[in-house]
Amino acid sequence: MSHTKYIFVTGGVSSSLGKGIISSSLAKLLQARGYYVTIQKLDPYINVDPGTLNPYEHGECYVTDDGAETDLDLGHYERFLNTATSQANNVTTGRIYQSVINKERKGDFLGKTVQVIPHITDEIKYRIKLLGNHKKYDVVITEIGGTVGDIESLPYIEAVRQLKWELGDDSLVIHLTLVPYLSASGELKTKPTQHSVKLLLENGVQPDILVLRTEKILTNGIRNKVARFCNVNKNSVIESIDASTIYEVPILMLKEELDLRVLEKLKLPANEEPKLEQWREFLKKRKNSKKRISIALVGKYVELPDAYKSIVESFVHAGAINEIKVELKLVHSETINNESAEEILKKFNGILVAPGFGHRGIEGKILATKYARKNNIPFLGICLGMQCAVIEFGRNVLNLQNANSTEMHRATPYPVIDLMEEQKSITDLGGTMRLGKYKCELKKGTKAYSAYKKPIISERHRHRYELNNIFLEEYEKNGMIASGINPNNQLVEIIEIPEHKWFIGVQFHPEYKSTVVDPHPLFIDFVKVSSIT
Ligand code: GLN
Repeated sequence: MSHTKYIFVTGGVSSSLGKGIISSSLAKLLQARGYYVTIQKLDPYINVDPGTLNPYEHGECYVTDDGAETDLDLGHYERFLNTATSQANNVTTGRIYQSVINKERKGDFLGKTVQVIPHITDEIKYRIKLLGNHKKYDVVITEIGGTVGDIESLPYIEAVRQLKWELGDDSLVIHLTLVPYLSASGELKTKPTQHSVKLLLENGVQPDILVLRTEKILTNGIRNKVARFCNVNKNSVIESIDASTIYEVPILMLKEELDLRVLEKLKLPANEEPKLEQWREFLKKRKNSKKRISIALVGKYVELPDAYKSIVESFVHAGAINEIKVELKLVHSETINNESAEEILKKFNGILVAPGFGHRGIEGKILATKYARKNNIPFLGICLGMQCAVIEFGRNVLNLQNANSTEMHRATPYPVIDLMEEQKSITDLGGTMRLGKYKCELKKGTKAYSAYKKPIISERHRHRYELNNIFLEEYEKNGMIASGINPNNQLVEIIEIPEHKWFIGVQFHPEYKSTVVDPHPLFIDFVKVSSIT
């Protein structure tokens, strides 16, 4: 293909309509027809990235191979497309302004007044086109965060208007809205969609395709009405009906021919039939899974499953491949104490202790690892979860009284988890953790090796603290071994207890790399052993 085509996805009427899932589903269909596609998210907030945001604000912070801390939608992009994203795939208003202001300080604007138009909009356009510059992608899909009409979104919509003008047939706009159902009158209402499109038009953008979220089937009448009022072809009014799983959405979009409309408008051939065999196989296995297991996800954001989005999805992938339905129950670590631990945890087939920061809920997490260790219950500890396993083993097996991580107790007599050397001089919080992919060497004959079935792996990290190697020999003598080590700096990346049914702690985040067609080996094995009674 000679040049890259650009698709912009905007949202209207309401937030949380699933622009990320629609973008991912469209990308999946184009990929299944042989196109190289990537998806980018533009977030209209002032933080430079979501790395310093509390999960209550923003859900999970997703991490890419190149160490970018990003919006959780990037997780969907990777899970659907099975291709890696990078820093270029997520841009915030904060990052845009930061670069423009840095340029201004350097004198790059030669004495001109720096303004939203053209300087901020030019920076936005530059960031959008960056992904197309390498000729790697046939199509770049850019999802604009927020909802049209938001003050914060205006520069993005203006950038889209300008790009649409410049790119002509090489670009199109998909607008996602909601068609609410009024049960009192038994009707679907199109007025909010009409108003939302009017708002876009006020900003100079005519959408080419409308995707309507709905809980009821869209009648011909509704499609005609929306087409007439919003200046789109009737066949470009696409129904997006509520689905039982997000992974069903590409199939629904295929039925609605979203991919065909896009290809027509971009003047791209639709000669290959979409190859979706693996995807359909996954959906079939997921549906047919009869056996059920119950896993406890011990964390501190139980009312907020988005905080653990990638972990939740990793279990969906690993469950399907094993044909096991995994019921994942969020357990609040602050409810676990010496008296309650057994009562709360005895009903589970496996226990996962979640990643996290700070001391709130830490003792409950440590008790959950103890319960799993002592009762031979399959256990996976991720990042802070692995650190809890090390602390617990130190306290209760090695008798290191009050052993702790220096994150929780700076003056602990036994700092079994300690700040990494390179972190000691760092004071800024944003973007300064050990981030992104690092290599890890696995020891033959361990459970980690038998899951991955290869000696060198690469996984993504997001942490400041690490197992303190001063204690490693004592741990290994007493039954907790390092089964994965960074070959360059000897940091322990995986611990396990060989005597236990399946007890693994990982300093990295395997959940960031699990996808529909490539479920993560650790989750696969964790689900498998948890189903064996
Ligand atoms: N708070 C721990 C650290 O910084 C663990 C981080 C995490 O779980 N992602 O090392």
